[in-house]
Amino acid sequence: MTLAVRFETAHSQSQSNNVVGLLPGRKHADEAIVYGAHWDHIGTGAPDASGDRIYHGAIDNASGVAMVLEIARNLASRPRADRSFEFVAFTLEEVGILGSEYHAVNPVFPLAKTAAVIVLDGTFPIGQAHDFSNWAQTDTTLNDMLVAAGARRGRHFTPDAHPEQAFAFRTDHSPFAKRGVPPIFFQPGQDLVDGGLAKGSALVSTWLTQCYRRQCDRYSPDWNLSGNADDALLLADVGYALAASRLWPVWKPGNEFGIIRANSDAARQ
Ligand SMILES: [Zn+2]
Repeated sequence: MTLAVRFETAHSQSQSNNVVGLLPGRKHADEAIVYGAHWDHIGTGAPDASGDRIYHGAIDNASGVAMVLEIARNLASRPRADRSFEFVAFTLEEVGILGSEYHAVNPVFPLAKTAAVIVLDGTFPIGQAHDFSNWAQTDTTLNDMLVAAGARRGRHFTPDAHPEQAFAFRTDHSPFAKRGVPPIFFQPGQDLVDGGLAKGSALVSTWLTQCYRRQCDRYSPDWNLSGNADDALLLADVGYALAASRLWPVWKPGNEFGIIRANSDAARQ
């Protein structure tokens, strides 16, 4: 059997910026918990049926950026923690997680002193849920902290139902994780307080098939943001507990990134 393939590539250079906010720690300001979400989207393209040329990116990922801002506002309203918080709006996620890759290579805080990275991308405004998920690598003590913090708020953890999609390697936490930083790629739950899993998963799959990476990913007054508020508080709890502690979350035995983190741990001593 033979196969002939021909394809053309184009090369261009352009410039964009990550945007970083800092909330310095009281006692160990050189150590950080990083929260992030990508601010870029696809731009403009051929008009859709309604004539709209703009890819608004309202859920993917203005929603995630809005949650990071609200988490920052919440953490700034609490008594100052010992460690610092860094809030990053990453650029160039959609063209291959370039902004977060750049940031992981040129970090504000050394990765050995970054206790955790918590990323939000595409946070569905579908209302309060009994559950939540983490689509990053979950074989960490950081994930155990997330599960415990959720339980304290009466919520339970649902594993990534589609590991074959490899989301653990496809979004902005990944450049940090592969360099050893324990990650959370938070996902809202689909087991809704009002309507259960049947309604939640139907809403998410409808959006994925009709609006994901299309012009119709735009804001709607129908959005129910009550679940996003719950999720923001949960993630603020996790980061705050970590910032108030001397804990360094670790990878569990067998994870491929554990050895990198172990070297960071040694370097930190
Ligand atoms: Zn995204």
